[in-house]
Amino acid sequence: MSSKKLDFASQAVFYEPEPESQSISYPIYMSANFQYGGDIYDQIVAGARKEVNIYSRCGNPTEYKFEEHVARLTGADGCLATASGMAAISHALFGILKAGDHIVTDITTYSSTHEFFDHRIGDFGITVSFVDTTDPVQVERAFNDRTKVLYFEALANPTMKVPPMKALVELAHQRGIVVVCDNTFASPAVCQPHAFGVDVVVESATKFIGGHNDAVGGVITQRSDLLPADWLEDVRWNTLNKLGGALSPFNAWLLLRGAQTLALRVEKQCANAAALARYLETHPKVKRVFYPGLESHPNHENAKAQLRNFGAMLSFQVENEEYGVQVLKRLQLCCFAASLGGLRTTTQLPGTMAFLDIPSQEREAMGIVDGLVRFSVGIEHIDDIIADVAQALG
Ligand SMILES: *Cc1c(COP(=O)(O)O)cnc(C)c1O
Repeated sequence: MSSKKLDFASQAVFYEPEPESQSISYPIYMSANFQYGGDIYDQIVAGARKEVNIYSRCGNPTEYKFEEHVARLTGADGCLATASGMAAISHALFGILKAGDHIVTDITTYSSTHEFFDHRIGDFGITVSFVDTTDPVQVERAFNDRTKVLYFEALANPTMKVPPMKALVELAHQRGIVVVCDNTFASPAVCQPHAFGVDVVVESATKFIGGHNDAVGGVITQRSDLLPADWLEDVRWNTLNKLGGALSPFNAWLLLRGAQTLALRVEKQCANAAALARYLETHPKVKRVFYPGLESHPNHENAKAQLRNFGAMLSFQVENEEYGVQVLKRLQLCCFAASLGGLRTTTQLPGTMAFLDIPSQEREAMGIVDGLVRFSVGIEHIDDIIADVAQALG
């Protein structure tokens, strides 16, 4: 059956059974290697790669099934799964860049991404300019003859800023610059960056795609006229297979199972987040709420144009960091923990948890102000979430 015309929710649930057994839950091929039976040896020598199974670092049938599913959900031409979201980011960038190249990135990115850009990628001869990508003028000024990649997040932690995708893609493509977008905070249920011309989307499948806080993984998807049609397969063979960030078959299976409820979970999570944001806006102990669905959000217009829903992530500012810690420690239903996107409401203090290694001046430029609290809103009943937050705020 062609799933092309199905609604996103049906596409998330549906996939073809495994042909041999007709198993409607795709099997976990828990095997590191595969026998060179029949003419497989001859096929490999003749250049066959994905068509045959060789070794699970270069690909595994359960991983391929997960990739196929994500490619359909994201409207991509292809997908490559990786061991983590960071592996997706590093493998995608090392699959495009070489020494001497330059990247323009948003100043506000996931903490490990920022550190990778700020303290690591320079060791490989790649230079980086940090700008605010919500301002295309800054982006254009930062481009030079060596710029190969423009990088930003569809929905950026912790202020939930939403850069204008179409305008950025246009600016970059005029100069042949590849646009790479991290869609983790939105998920394919909330944002489809390929529909706005983004060439490469990277995402931590650990978060919304998997959605159960039980498996770490990542995905790279491609839909691009700038990169070769076989770019992802080249990354699989020449980057992932050499750097070694392959996804395990068991995690591929968990993430595939999780992805089947993506639409349902995220719809509920977004509704809960919107209700919590509105509640927090009226709370006397809350100074400011950052949620792209609120009219008070500086990028509300971009959010309306680019997001199918306003997401399940929000942050808010309280008096100071100390009070923020007290609030989070008092939570009973909501979970004070790193990470996001799962069934349970999880919450953290971006300043002192995720971004601890980043100097305070840089943190402020990223919008990480003192007393900022972040929520990834789960699927619990909204009344219970609000009651828990209310008692914790005191
Ligand atoms: C979590 C996260 C990552 C990294 O993903 P891992 O699966 O933890 O490696 C990258 N980008 C964003 C926006 C994230 O939230």
